[in-house]
Amino acid sequence: MNKSIVFSLLTALSFSACKTAKHVSNETKEISVIADKASHGVYKETEKREFDLLHTDLDVSFNWTEKQLLGVAKLKLTPVFYDQTVLNLDAKAMDIKAVGLIDSLGEVKPVEFTYDGLVISVKLGKVVTRKDTINVFIDYVANPEKVEQPGSEAIHMAKGLYFINADGDHPEKPQQVWTQGETEASSCWFPTIDIPNEKTTQEIRITVQDKFKTLSNGELAYSMLNADGTRSDVWRQEKPHAPYLFMMSVGDYHVIEHDWRDIKVHYFVEPKDSNYAELVFGRTPEMLDYYSDYLGFEYPWAKYDQVLVRDFVSGAMENTSAVIHGEFIMLDSLEYLDQNFEDIIAHELVHHWFGDLLTCESWANLPLNESFATYGSYLWREHKYGREYADMNYHSNLRSYLWESAYKQEDMIRFTYENPMDMFDSHSYAKGSTILHMLRKYIGDEAFFASLKVYLNENAYQTVEIHDLRQAFEKVTGEDLNWFFNQWFMDKGHPSLFYTYSYDAVNDSLILNIEQLQNLEKTPLYKLPIDIDIYHGSRAERKRVWANEKKNRFAFAVDGRPDNVNFDATKSITCEKIEEKPFEAWAHQYRNAPLYLDRYDAFEKVLVHCKDSASKATNDLMWEFMEDKNKNIRMMASYSYPFIQEKDSAELRLKMLDVLTKDPASSVRATAIMVLTKLPENQENVFAIRKALKDSSYMVKAYAIEALYVTDKEFLLKKVSSFENSDNSSIVNSIAKIYAKEGDQAYQAYFQEKFANFTTKKMYLQKSYAAYLQKQSEDSIRSAVKHLEGLASSPFYTDKDKSAMANVLLEMVVHYYSRMNDLKKDIQDEKDSNTRKNDLPAKEARLKKVEESYKLIRESLKNVHEKLNESSMKNIQDQLNRAGIE
Ligand SMILES: [Zn+2]
Repeated sequence: MNKSIVFSLLTALSFSACKTAKHVSNETKEISVIADKASHGVYKETEKREFDLLHTDLDVSFNWTEKQLLGVAKLKLTPVFYDQTVLNLDAKAMDIKAVGLIDSLGEVKPVEFTYDGLVISVKLGKVVTRKDTINVFIDYVANPEKVEQPGSEAIHMAKGLYFINADGDHPEKPQQVWTQGETEASSCWFPTIDIPNEKTTQEIRITVQDKFKTLSNGELAYSMLNADGTRSDVWRQEKPHAPYLFMMSVGDYHVIEHDWRDIKVHYFVEPKDSNYAELVFGRTPEMLDYYSDYLGFEYPWAKYDQVLVRDFVSGAMENTSAVIHGEFIMLDSLEYLDQNFEDIIAHELVHHWFGDLLTCESWANLPLNESFATYGSYLWREHKYGREYADMNYHSNLRSYLWESAYKQEDMIRFTYENPMDMFDSHSYAKGSTILHMLRKYIGDEAFFASLKVYLNENAYQTVEIHDLRQAFEKVTGEDLNWFFNQWFMDKGHPSLFYTYSYDAVNDSLILNIEQLQNLEKTPLYKLPIDIDIYHGSRAERKRVWANEKKNRFAFAVDGRPDNVNFDATKSITCEKIEEKPFEAWAHQYRNAPLYLDRYDAFEKVLVHCKDSASKATNDLMWEFMEDKNKNIRMMASYSYPFIQEKDSAELRLKMLDVLTKDPASSVRATAIMVLTKLPENQENVFAIRKALKDSSYMVKAYAIEALYVTDKEFLLKKVSSFENSDNSSIVNSIAKIYAKEGDQAYQAYFQEKFANFTTKKMYLQKSYAAYLQKQSEDSIRSAVKHLEGLASSPFYTDKDKSAMANVLLEMVVHYYSRMNDLKKDIQDEKDSNTRKNDLPAKEARLKKVEESYKLIRESLKNVHEKLNESSMKNIQDQLNRAGIE
């Protein structure tokens, strides 16, 4: 699964019943982990399996009006080991019409069952042994709208099955049905054993109106037209996979087909997006080649399809051979210049080995799915675009984890989570990918990929826990790796490393001190192999040291004073570093060390140095940063320069004008606009930024719009309406900010249209719209509030849309509340004072009006509030509480 992602200019970053502990693993470390956690959590054991689900046969159709699925399930099962008399099946919020056992002649014999809304207990009427196979028949109706399961940060809702524009009332929105199973929501649309440590083959017959296309796991076996004009598509998956990976989607799609080796690859997109499907998904066959060859296990499934759905509840989902993507992934060719989501396409594909072929046996072992999928994006970048681009991905993962670690530190493999969705955090994704990278750098590329090959081949179509991974690496390398897995996967936190070095001229040696500063009560003392490069000129000599103690001291014979000591030369230790080196060493590192992070670290340190003591040397280096081959360093250096140097640098101005027209990266060109607006006014700058309104990139255009509003307002206000049709979020955001500042009544239509349409990310508008409304008349505000309330009552908008609408109302409530209190205070002050100005009646009349508006907006917010999901509701309530509003 891939969580929704938030983007910024500087970083493109990237979300039941309790069981009691009965089973304790033989692994010694696991026992100590359990003992440690006993005091503050309940151990989540791997789900007990009584039956093995061998095959799932579903026959489904839809009642769109009632948002129901009408299904018949035939399940083939056998006991795992012990004799059984009762079969328990997960089935959430269903109407169970009939349950029976199918005999050898294919006849259904009804059996007794009980159902509590979550589990069907089927009384088998006999003792079933492990030599027996039973075929269970269930006639049911699934009611996803009646499911009561909390969502989470990564998945906003968990009702398993979703109808989009079910009654077809809204022509702008397509009619679709789609599913989302992870973690335990597949049992909202078919009865199953809804645990990750179950695997079944499947066949699904989906009956729909002939106008729709369907998609599911496996191959389309056949289609048939029915007498009533509907069509039934039969999808068959002959290799077993976990129930949470079952998938179905229905809609009007344009389908693009490719051949890859001997299977088909399809992209299902809405007809309006068909021109850009190749742009977005076109590298998929090359990725299939890469992963099949490098992982040592050919892509194992019958086909590979990707489908775009509306209002998806997560970022993307790795359903076996039928990946669902949220609509955000679709970019046009111009948007693609600013960003792309190739990492996500790679992530979902890698899951087809790590997650689908080998599945974590319990959610406690989720890093076996997500860390690999996240690291898979790194591997693809490295293979396709080189180490530099891959290391940018590593860097953002490391920062994402370190950011999360400031408020949350958990074991990677953890058995005491509250809700399985708690596992879908930056630990399981980002930190895990950096740990795999560190392991690779420790054992070497050849051993790393050989170990993955063993792991995949020995565990294919099975479930795995972390020890299976360790054993595969141990088999290949011949080394006991408990030390590595225990400190990184079974424990929490990370090392915080303080190092210093000095040159001992008497003995011609280098002294290196490394101290582990992390809190050892909560975090382990790490055993750390660290590579050190000692530089003399451009020549580096590599040493590996083991920093296993709290304080470590090393001495190396050298040939004269080193120019730099590059600590963690492979830039692969998941840690925080406290580094004290002279400026000259950082400058040397920037100019001589080979990796992106060598240069990025040097840039950050030099920046600090510049602020303390700028000199010609620091200035020269800043200019080198602005010429760096990497866009991130060019962008950060350009952005930072005006803060550390004299503002009227004519040289900088010329440089930025050059960057604005010539830099290949849109983020760097956009930064040049920001820098130019910080420099003293100059007509030449204004003309250059005017030209940037015609740049190919939306991001650059958006920056130009905002910059011209400051420096060339009259010109900009004449031009800006020509951008109103754009739904690009950067452009929308910039226009909205300007319209809010201007406050002209004519701009109301722009906001109303953007809130009403279905494509804009409304969160980019909410602040500006509230600020805009505060400048309007009482009557306009009241009508705007009613308009928003009306939109939020419509079933066509997503939770995120509704949350943005509620946030506008919230801002208005807070604004009116404070206006009301100010006026009341003002009136009271005037009453209390001896110098009455006689405008009390006017003020009281104004207060009355403000009170009326407040009441109306507060009422609208209440109505919209009820329609929000749990987390948005809580967010609004928290903000009301903070403002002291009832
Ligand atoms: Zn994932």
